[in-house]
Amino acid sequence: MRYAVIGDIHGNLEALQAVLEDVDEQGVDEILCVGDVVGYGADPEACLELVSEGCSTVVTGNHDYAVAGQSSLESFNPYARRALQWTAERLSADAQQVLAEFPLTAQMNGFALVHSSFFAPERFDYIFAPSQARVSFLKQDVPLAFFGHTHLPVSFFNTQPITYSLEPEISLDPQTKTLINVGSVGQPRDEDARASYAIYDSESRVVTLRRVTYNIEQAAERITRAGLPEILAERLFLGR
Ligand code: ZN
Repeated sequence: MRYAVIGDIHGNLEALQAVLEDVDEQGVDEILCVGDVVGYGADPEACLELVSEGCSTVVTGNHDYAVAGQSSLESFNPYARRALQWTAERLSADAQQVLAEFPLTAQMNGFALVHSSFFAPERFDYIFAPSQARVSFLKQDVPLAFFGHTHLPVSFFNTQPITYSLEPEISLDPQTKTLINVGSVGQPRDEDARASYAIYDSESRVVTLRRVTYNIEQAAERITRAGLPEILAERLFLGR
């Protein structure tokens, strides 16, 4: 099986469409999503529709969780909070219900999905460093898992001590638990403005992190025209 794993779309329809086209060209059997479909971008409802139609499994992200009323907005920075309020006001009741039904984690054939960390996933802790990955590995029961949240593509390996790789192609070692951040479709933060996602081939046991160019100008203009904070448009060009 070939899986595409997407995440952190954040209402960026232009980026999502470009990624789905690339996924099509790559020939995959299933698309999975590690959450944060909404928040920051100007097209939350359209993104949610595409993700709901196209993905076999979606786990919730902290922005999805907040818009669905499952957590308070207090932990978000002012720009994120304003975008979340804007999103909650515009999403239909049906769409909010769809968000509310996303699980915190999901497990399929030998691998799992989470937005942030397997350790208390409802806390949405960040995994930037090996020490934080170590805590998540304690609760990861399968050899392979995918996550998002930091918007930084990286692979962590449960070796002694924990190691990591920024390589775009990872050959999986079945003896070593691996946790892979697929990067962000709609708001990359690793100073590469292109949309990011992963392809996992379960036969060759290779994960490939792909980057896709998209129409950033248009996505940024939509944010500006929607009256969302200007910084949310500007950062798309910088990829941070
Ligand atoms: Zn996010």
